[in-house]
Amino acid sequence: MKLSFRRFDLALTHSWAIATDLSAGKVGGKDIYPVVFVELQDADGRCGIGEGSPSSQYHENWETVFRFLRQVDPDRLSFDDVAGGMEYLASLPGTSMPALCAVNLALLDGAAKAAGRPLHGFLGLDFPAEGRISSFTIGLDTPEMIERKVHEASRYPVLKMKLGSPADRENLAALRRAAPGKTVRVDANAAWKSKEEALERIEWLASDGAIEFVEQPMPASTPLSDLVWLRERSPLPLVGDESYQGAADVDFCSQAYHGVNVKLVKTGGVSAGKAALEAARSKGLKTMLGCMIESSVLISAAAHLASLTDWLDLDGNVLITNDPYRGVANVDGRLGFGSGGSRPGIGVVAAGA
Ligand SMILES: [Mg+2]
Repeated sequence: MKLSFRRFDLALTHSWAIATDLSAGKVGGKDIYPVVFVELQDADGRCGIGEGSPSSQYHENWETVFRFLRQVDPDRLSFDDVAGGMEYLASLPGTSMPALCAVNLALLDGAAKAAGRPLHGFLGLDFPAEGRISSFTIGLDTPEMIERKVHEASRYPVLKMKLGSPADRENLAALRRAAPGKTVRVDANAAWKSKEEALERIEWLASDGAIEFVEQPMPASTPLSDLVWLRERSPLPLVGDESYQGAADVDFCSQAYHGVNVKLVKTGGVSAGKAALEAARSKGLKTMLGCMIESSVLISAAAHLASLTDWLDLDGNVLITNDPYRGVANVDGRLGFGSGGSRPGIGVVAAGA
């Protein structure tokens, strides 16, 4: 097996900021977002592609991903034994979830292509012919810019709004000037520091009338008793994101939240992402699939798991201007693989192909 990897800088349409950036004292947002593409090719010429999108939120960057990948012996990987390959990666010193994610995607892409099946079929799942709606995210910004971004996003039926800045009230008012009554999901990215502050904010959000749920109101380190207190009183469903790294967190999150947000770069790929969604559903939690800033490789890979979710937030590839691949289409917020269904594997091709 031959393993190659490269850094690629995704260029953002709008500078990107969330509450974690503000609390870290950073000024302004990011304009580029480096990701790592991984390619595997075996002696029979079969190949697979994967992607890892490292986030500073989880102390990862393209260099931590490279460091992990450099120690991988590609001869220990095979498209015929994805689980065995993941066991080998787990045995290596140190870990990097975006790196595991990238290799897992490449292994599954090659394996599903070899089987001549789209990834969801290879995994025993369906993808609805009519597609599935994903939200479109509005990052933190000035009220003027938020109003402009929401106008630009008028074709998307569901928005996700980042909160957790001192201007939250002005920002929601700006969004409502541009999109009165539109369904909005809110993500506080752990910004509210006490249960009382969180409850006060959530009650204010509930008075809007068209907020669907609130994601990660408080830090992942918040004591369970505080989260249980908040869940009992919250007038809106609460969804854990930073609190839900994978299936191992399911007992905690089933007490603290109404739902969880799974991301492939948190779980380390599609295999563990599927397990995280299934574990959450078995505990009665609502499920959501989210993303980082990502190309069509990661977004398409995640879309194959859509049938295991209640909500999709797979918009990372429509927040950028230089996606080097195309796969699942996003038509006015509806994700789909077209009338012919997905190509085999993850179903991506080079953007110019
Ligand atoms: Mg989130």
